Amino acid sequence: MIAVLLPTLSAGIPLSCQRDVVVVQDGVHDYGPLIDKPPIMRVLLINNVREAQLSVYGCYQITGSLTNIIDQGQGLQKAKISVTNGGITIGNKRYDTSELRIASRQDGDVELNNLRYRGEIRILQQGNNKFSVIEEIDLESFIAGVLGSEMPQTWNEDALRAQAVTARTYAMYKKKIRRDEIYHLEMIELAYRGMAGETPRLNKIIRETNGVVMIYNWNIFPAYFHSTCGGHTEDIHHVFGKDSIPPLTGVVCNYCNNSKHSSWSRDISKSDIEKKLREANICVSNISAVKVINPGAGNHGSRVEIASRSGNKEMNANDFRLLVGPNILLSTAFNSRSNGKCITFSGRGWGHGVGLCQYGAQAMAEKGSPWTAILKYYYPEIELVRIY
Ligand SMILES: [Zn+2]
Repeated sequence: MIAVLLPTLSAGIPLSCQRDVVVVQDGVHDYGPLIDKPPIMRVLLINNVREAQLSVYGCYQITGSLTNIIDQGQGLQKAKISVTNGGITIGNKRYDTSELRIASRQDGDVELNNLRYRGEIRILQQGNNKFSVIEEIDLESFIAGVLGSEMPQTWNEDALRAQAVTARTYAMYKKKIRRDEIYHLEMIELAYRGMAGETPRLNKIIRETNGVVMIYNWNIFPAYFHSTCGGHTEDIHHVFGKDSIPPLTGVVCNYCNNSKHSSWSRDISKSDIEKKLREANICVSNISAVKVINPGAGNHGSRVEIASRSGNKEMNANDFRLLVGPNILLSTAFNSRSNGKCITFSGRGWGHGVGLCQYGAQAMAEKGSPWTAILKYYYPEIELVRIY
């Protein structure tokens, strides 16, 4: 919906002629609801598996792909989901359909692989007796499941509010660009573990920013965030090759010096790096060095050069980091040197460096900055708008 509504608002008509602008909180514009309720997100929970475990704690209904009710019942205990001969089997029941939807009467009564979910669960057949599971869940409930996984739950309320708005904006952006696809988001894009991370404190914080997103030039944008920038956030074009816009060009960050990831050093075995590159069809042997090429304002590389016996190979720096392991090679702002069977990487920060720096946001909040100021600092030239 927002993809339709926001361009309408930017069609050159002064906003005040259309709606009464009400500023409900410092810096947050409320034009009245632009959409009537939180949009539904389609989240890929599991993909391409042969087996999963389903429990339902209460009344449930199973519908096929055409919303026809094909079964209903009460309580399911650790039922195995599998696909055989074109049908879906749950426990001891087989359904001759390529897709099933399971809805419980009460939120959170559905449990898949030991995680509880609020939304409706869809099981979709894939080839070779495999299947995927997608949850359809309203955006606010989804953010409730994301917040506690993306930021320590004990952090300052304003840092958590900033994170909630960031995650909501990112999710809305994904919904817009993947509107015609089977799912909008994968669980790993925004760390999501169903209801596992929810707490009353986090739910209250989310309600306080209910429906607020960031926009630039009346468009939703990919509100990237990361743990620790190391001193300066990076331009989105530099890291991901995507079009640069003012909110994602990078800012000085003097706030994350106290992050435990501010500077680090890691020995990573050369054979491990070679193996991971080979798995991605990048053949190198006997690596002697990995050098950052074209460091950005925050020293994160745009590309890396890998020197090896088979010659020098160049590749996108962030892709290299993801291949080696984002929790092993913490950032692309590094120097490296050969150290026997290892390469010693010495670097700054954790994450890709684009958008909100979480440790910086926490330090700003501790010093008294409200969440609106934190967001406007890390994403220059944004507007904060309540859309529902
Ligand atoms: Zn920072």
